[in-house]
Amino acid sequence: MYACPACNAASISFFRKWLSSPALPASCPACGRYSYAHRSSGGVGVVVAAFGITASGFAASAVQALWPLLCGIVAAMVFYVLHWHRTRLETLSPELLSQARKTEAMSAFALLIAFFLN
Ligand SMILES: [Zn+2]
Repeated sequence: MYACPACNAASISFFRKWLSSPALPASCPACGRYSYAHRSSGGVGVVVAAFGITASGFAASAVQALWPLLCGIVAAMVFYVLHWHRTRLETLSPELLSQARKTEAMSAFALLIAFFLN
C-alpha cells in the first residue's frame, strides 16, 4: 500500500497506483481526495525496460543462447516495477480531474471519428 499524498494514510494499492492517470485517479478511502502517479515518469520506465530487453536480445543473438534474453526480460520487469514503486503520487483537485476527463473524452471521440472515417 502507498501513502495518500493528501492525508498520508497507507490506502492506495500498487495496482491502483499503476493504473492511475489524471482522468482515472486513485481515490483515498480515508480522505476522499484524488491522486495519480505522474505519467511521464512511467514513460521513462517503459523506455529503459524496452532498451534493456533489446540489448539483451542482441546479447542472446551474439552468444547463440536464450539465457541473456531471459535475464534481460526479468531485469527489465524488475526495473519497471521498482520504478513504479518509487514514483510519487500527486494530488489532483476536482477541477483538474474534471478537465482531464473532458480532454480524455474528447480524444476518445476524435479517435472514434478517425476510426469510422477511415
Ligand atoms: Zn487520503
